[in-house]
Amino acid sequence: MHTRCVHAGRDDFARIGVHAPPIDLSSTYPMHDLAEGTADLDALAAGEAAPAHTAVYARLYNPTVARFESAFAELEGAQAAVAFASGMAAITALFLAPTDRGRHIVAVRPIYGGTDHLLASGLLSREVTWAAPHEVAGAIRPDTAMVFLETPANPTCALVDIADVVRQAGDVPVVVDSTFATPILQRPLALGAAAALHSATKFIGGHGDAVGGVIATSEAMARGLRQVRILTGGILHPLAAYLLHRGLPTLALRVHGAQAGAGEIARRLARHPAVHAVHYPGLPDGDPQRLLGRQMSGAGSLMSFELAGGYQAAAHVMESVRLITPAVSLGSTDTLIQHPAGLTHRLVPDAEREAMGITPGLLRLSVGVEGVEDLWADLSRALAGVGDADWDSSSEGAASPSNGELAAR
Ligand SMILES: *Cc1c(COP(=O)(O)O)cnc(C)c1O
Repeated sequence: MHTRCVHAGRDDFARIGVHAPPIDLSSTYPMHDLAEGTADLDALAAGEAAPAHTAVYARLYNPTVARFESAFAELEGAQAAVAFASGMAAITALFLAPTDRGRHIVAVRPIYGGTDHLLASGLLSREVTWAAPHEVAGAIRPDTAMVFLETPANPTCALVDIADVVRQAGDVPVVVDSTFATPILQRPLALGAAAALHSATKFIGGHGDAVGGVIATSEAMARGLRQVRILTGGILHPLAAYLLHRGLPTLALRVHGAQAGAGEIARRLARHPAVHAVHYPGLPDGDPQRLLGRQMSGAGSLMSFELAGGYQAAAHVMESVRLITPAVSLGSTDTLIQHPAGLTHRLVPDAEREAMGITPGLLRLSVGVEGVEDLWADLSRALAGVGDADWDSSSEGAASPSNGELAAR
């Protein structure tokens, strides 16, 4: 895998005489033969992977994006990959893609707040049934187009058994948001999923400087995604494609390095008196289904933890860290901390959010590749300020703010 990360999408370098991927920023392409141009346009509009003569127009095809896509498909063991302007653009295209099955989607909660809100909003005129992982079989209908799940799930880091959901779904395609795992730790297609989806903004780019999304899947499914991408204009920018491709050679190193630090931080947090609970698959009770080793080769570098002191304590920790960046997003070389109830999952209705375990005292930590002792020094200093559960009762009305209350802060 290390070798594939380094060399994927670079096989032709010796032949074309370069050592780094060329960037093509053209917005349009010259066309000297109208009949050929028309044929290329037809082929791209039908979802073909590449044109025979000219790319016609940058919203239809870009060679720098295509190079990143072929590299990424190789890492996921997929026939094809389709890259988008963001993870949400990829998710939107997925739900809009043509299907002969129907308008119904089964979604396994919890998932990323933006995905949850997109599905719940009705914007896409799709009908959604929310299901727990063991309820998928019962939620399938004759018009179900797909089952959508995320594992590890955001932000609780609960693992969903992909192979079990695939079994329950029968011939209905299962799509996995595998953003937290990356192809280094998890390969959903090998477990029977129809597609693996990523917010490439996170680990794939890895340096917090590019936004993108990518779906690795069969050539047949990729065709439908490309068609939607052309119509809705969600193609990845070539500069972002270059940065995402540049992230790949270090992907395995970064993922394994961050994971080693995360395991240590999780164990220390679990022993800390201000911390009520730590959700991390690598802790003894963090993987009740024993999916580590079977589905995921490691526990990753994302965790969430519950402060005994509730919202006030969580806010204090987020505001007190100095080395760690208080910010949404994840999978960067630097460590990030954020408050899911107030930020990433704010648009999920209060009752649903609480049912998913996203409480006011929950923080999500994305461990980077810094030295563990430096990270722990920062985190333990921030935690030292919050004390235990009694600390919170002195702060008026802070036990469990609703969305409205959080908005007022
Ligand atoms: C960030 C994220 C998304 C959305 O991706 P963007 O690139 O921010 O649009 C989707 N799923 C998961 C799990 C994420 O973490």
